[in-house]
Amino acid sequence: MGPPGAGKGTQATIIAARYNIPHLSTGDMLRSEVRAQTTLGRSIEQILSNGDLVSDEIMIDVVAARLNRPDAAAGFVLDGFPRTLGQALALERILTKHSLDAVIELTVNEDEIIRRIVSRSIASHAAGETSRSDDNPETARRRLAAYFGETALLSEYYAERGLLARIDGLAPVDTVSSSIAGIIEGLR
Ligand code: AMP
Repeated sequence: MGPPGAGKGTQATIIAARYNIPHLSTGDMLRSEVRAQTTLGRSIEQILSNGDLVSDEIMIDVVAARLNRPDAAAGFVLDGFPRTLGQALALERILTKHSLDAVIELTVNEDEIIRRIVSRSIASHAAGETSRSDDNPETARRRLAAYFGETALLSEYYAERGLLARIDGLAPVDTVSSSIAGIIEGLR
C-alpha cells in the first residue's frame, strides 16, 4: 500500500524478482485492458485518466480471475489492491488457499508525491516515451484524494489484524527494499 508515487511498483518488482513470484499490479492490468481497447478497457479509460477509482465490482472480478491463474498458486505480490474496504473484504473471500502474510505500507508526504509523479512524467517525455495519462499534477491530486479518502483507512484495518508494516517510502530504493526483505524474512 501507499499513495501514488510512493514506489509501490518499483518495490513490488524487486520483491517479485527476489522471491520468484508474480507481481500483480492492478494498475498494469487495467492499463493493458485500455491499450488493447477491450470492452473493459474502453469502459474504464476515462476513470483512469481522471485519476478516480475503478468500481469494486470490476476490480474484484479482475483480481479474482488473476489469482486463479496457476502462476499465483505459490504466492504473489499484490500491488495497488485492495484500495477500498470493500476490496479488502472481498480479498479475504477470494483467498481460499492463501491468507495474507503481510501488508506493507510505504509512507510519503504529499508534496513529495506530487514532485515524484511530475518528474516521472518529465522523465518519460525526455526518453521519448508516452507518459501515463494520469501522471500530471491535476490528476495526481485526484489520485491522492482517492488514496487519503478511501485507501488510507485500510492501514488501520490491517494494523488491527497485526499484518501491517510501515516503511518510509522516501528512503533510497535499496534501503526500502532491504526493509521489506527484512519483514518478509521475519515471516519465514
Ligand atoms: P496504479 O498504477 O496502482 O497507480 O493505478 C492506476 C489507476 O488504476 C488508479 O489511479 C485507478 O484509476 C486504477 N486502479 C488500480 N488499482 C485499483 C483498485 N484496486 N481499485 C480501483 N482502481 C484501481
